Amino acid sequence: MLIETFIRKQLRLKAHTVTKVEETEEFMIVHIDRLDRRLLRCGVCRQRCREVHDLRSEREWRDLSMRKLPLKLCYRPRRVDCPRCGVRVEDFPWAEPWARVTAALANAVATLARELSWQGTARQYGLNWKSVATIVKRAVEYGLRHRTRPPVHAIGIDEVSRRKGQVYLTVVYDLERRVLLWVGEDRTEEAVKKFFTEEMGRRRCRTLQVVCMDMWAAYAKLVREHAPQAQILFDRFHIVQHLNEAVEEVRRSEMRRLSVQEKVPFKRSRWLLLKNPWNLTSDQKERLSMLVRWNAPIVRAYYLKESFQLFWEYRRPSRAEQHLQKWMNSAMRSRLNPFKKFARMLRSHLDGILPWTKLRLSNGAVEGMNNKIKSVSHRSFGFRSAKNFIAAIYHCCARLPLPVEL
Ligand SMILES: [Zn+2]
Repeated sequence: MLIETFIRKQLRLKAHTVTKVEETEEFMIVHIDRLDRRLLRCGVCRQRCREVHDLRSEREWRDLSMRKLPLKLCYRPRRVDCPRCGVRVEDFPWAEPWARVTAALANAVATLARELSWQGTARQYGLNWKSVATIVKRAVEYGLRHRTRPPVHAIGIDEVSRRKGQVYLTVVYDLERRVLLWVGEDRTEEAVKKFFTEEMGRRRCRTLQVVCMDMWAAYAKLVREHAPQAQILFDRFHIVQHLNEAVEEVRRSEMRRLSVQEKVPFKRSRWLLLKNPWNLTSDQKERLSMLVRWNAPIVRAYYLKESFQLFWEYRRPSRAEQHLQKWMNSAMRSRLNPFKKFARMLRSHLDGILPWTKLRLSNGAVEGMNNKIKSVSHRSFGFRSAKNFIAAIYHCCARLPLPVEL
């Protein structure tokens, strides 16, 4: 078989053919021409058109490589006279109308960009970073338009920061299917509202049963407005985070009170207090017991933290509530301001905390996804804009379909 025939078959050309294949140092150049009597299609509506209006100047498309040499397709596009659309550039069977790479190469790039950074992907295919960005963004646009949208019952709302501690994005997961549903710039009420109004819409909001989130008034308000039937559940991991912050605050304020000499045994004690006790080494255990013997407020903070955690184990709602009520009372009597603050926060959010016993759902179900987003942000310092970062998150976490090659 001639190489021309082989490439024609690979590209599934019907109204076009390969006239010549040239080899240079860098490329295999594939010259394409149209077959005379076959009808070309309109690039807008894909309708077959009888009339060719004119011939444009030659264009090039990058394709996959054959062995070491990347293919380059060369062709002079025709403009057709479409009965519906008027004079339009023809449809290319090997590429999207706007693209400078073939659909096959675009898909290969998009697939690799799920694993590697955009820079790494670009290097692999001899493209520049911008081309990869364009390809990924178009793949995401396509994927969002064509993805399946089964009914959603349980979602988790979370936030990620683009740079450490600043520029927040809001992410929404389907906790049952463990897939990313939506990413929005910012974490304000106005921004997150778009998830309910644009992504979900009124009809799809009605199937929501559980919404898992941090204790944040703006999120709760949105749920009550757009999915009033859904149970709000304050996320276990966020609650524990607030609890740990209280412990840390007590420790830090105690450290400030101590003299330099007294401080010695407490150096680097932060993790001793926050770690689960069964994960401590024997040396750490010893240091912990010294720490708690020495300092009464830290002892109280430590035991409060440990006893709070029992809440997650209860199976009977009445017992769980009893435990929590008792705990909040002792926290209020603890003379530790951070714990009083935490207890007050719990008290005003009880109706979203107690359902844990029955639902046993948390954003921890998608923790893997969260880590993936972190690694996406770490491996690319090139996301100069939120838009690029959002595209990369969708691309790696939303299981979007890739464009179908013709
Ligand atoms: Zn048309």
